[in-house]
Amino acid sequence: MTSPIELQPEEFKAIGHQLIDMIAGFIGGIAHRPVTTGKTAKELQQLLGAPSLPGEGTPAAEIFSKITPLLFNDSLLNGHPKFMGYITSSAAPAGALADLLAAAVNPNVGAQILSPVATEVEKCTIKWLAEFIGLDQGYGGLLVSGGNMANFTAFLVARTAKAGNAIKEEGLNNTSGRMLVYCSQNTHTWIEKAAALFGHGTRAIRWIPTDIFDRMDTVLLEKTIKEDLQAGARPFMVVGTAGDVSSGAVDDLRAIAGVCKTYDLWFHIDGAYGMPAAAIPGQQKVFDGMKEADSIALDPHKWLYCPLEAGCTLVKDPRHLTDTYSSHPAYYNFNSTEDDPVHNYYERGLQNSRGFRALKVWIALQQAGKTGYIKMINKNIQLSRLLFELAEKHPQLEAVTQHLSITTFRYVPPARGEDAQYLDKLNETLLNRLQQGGKVFLSNAVIHKKYCLRACIVNFRTSKKDIEEMIEIIAKEGERTHQHLSVPV
Ligand SMILES: *Cc1c(COP(=O)(O)O)cnc(C)c1O
Repeated sequence: MTSPIELQPEEFKAIGHQLIDMIAGFIGGIAHRPVTTGKTAKELQQLLGAPSLPGEGTPAAEIFSKITPLLFNDSLLNGHPKFMGYITSSAAPAGALADLLAAAVNPNVGAQILSPVATEVEKCTIKWLAEFIGLDQGYGGLLVSGGNMANFTAFLVARTAKAGNAIKEEGLNNTSGRMLVYCSQNTHTWIEKAAALFGHGTRAIRWIPTDIFDRMDTVLLEKTIKEDLQAGARPFMVVGTAGDVSSGAVDDLRAIAGVCKTYDLWFHIDGAYGMPAAAIPGQQKVFDGMKEADSIALDPHKWLYCPLEAGCTLVKDPRHLTDTYSSHPAYYNFNSTEDDPVHNYYERGLQNSRGFRALKVWIALQQAGKTGYIKMINKNIQLSRLLFELAEKHPQLEAVTQHLSITTFRYVPPARGEDAQYLDKLNETLLNRLQQGGKVFLSNAVIHKKYCLRACIVNFRTSKKDIEEMIEIIAKEGERTHQHLSVPV
């Protein structure tokens, strides 16, 4: 009698081969599918069936043959060349194979003894990621589930490093003055979660206004820090954003680094989306100052095209990771020897048991190589600029912003250009219709109080032709939406 969850090699192969064939067909034909079918949750529940927990087992082949076509047909396809919605990338196909392999071996990358090979692969991946974006040697870090976790991981490191020794034992109560964090008003929502969850409260966040280029106003940053210090508070960290979520703007990292140095603050960069662009020779001045950061968050599942989930925290002095997350000091590590120190990831982050998410990143970095990545990322930036230019030239489109690979723009019908309220409503309706239509997928952003369409090109499948066709689709649907809305009721 075999166990009910076992698959004998022959059965595993039969299911696996068929699944691989179907996935290959799905990936090969992805451009010809709708980006989304927009079915409602109710409709999908009906297709899914199975209202109650099964009492008895079902052969695995049967389950796979039911769920596979449903996933292919009714998912939102972020691997579609015309998906430019949120910052969710197309996924490297090799990443799917990597996840299969990782799950098959199933190392627990929490402890080195449980994952001797996988730990080395993750260490190597961290080193390569730091090198790819142009950091000096010596950074340490780890892979986490995404940008939120990567930023949380760094937030706690910053706090431990700057609060003084007692924080691990005494908590925040023992710190003199309220600990404050500074970031631009465009910072992603992770900062609010972090401040609330880690006991600071959201009022410990100082939201610094942005300049006309959507970058943190560093003069106001310094002024705010000075005032807070005078009032007896305890600033500990400044978060610079490298590729903000709505417009893609990169803060003046050099200026922030200067302020952090003057006031002895931890300098963290949230580069969840934008950081990989630092590898592009033409972009390096945009990221000037990044090497001064104490920690950096970046997401391989965004602009490195790895399948979800893969985020990464990099820390300039890796000892801060063990100081924060290890429950005993490094010198109590009895299993370590001088030449072969133990590298347990559970001592470097929030997780204990950890999956092998490094494998897909490690494989992708080798498959494309640095040159291949630079080409893909650069192409996304060029396509975003093309979109901006085409929108600028189009009589019914207004180009609003363009940073990295994010373009914001909106539809403006003839003779209605002054009616701000109407334009907001029109573009909101247009966006909903485009999202339902399944031909392209965009998201929205409110830029300088204007409701805009937002194209985030984080997609190695998008081509010049897709951009040109998209302009046509939007112009046509914009006109229809305008006619629809202007009909007197
Ligand atoms: C996407 C993003 C995040 C959140 O990352 P997740 O991977 O979704 O958790 C945080 N900050 C920035 C700037 C982002 O672009």
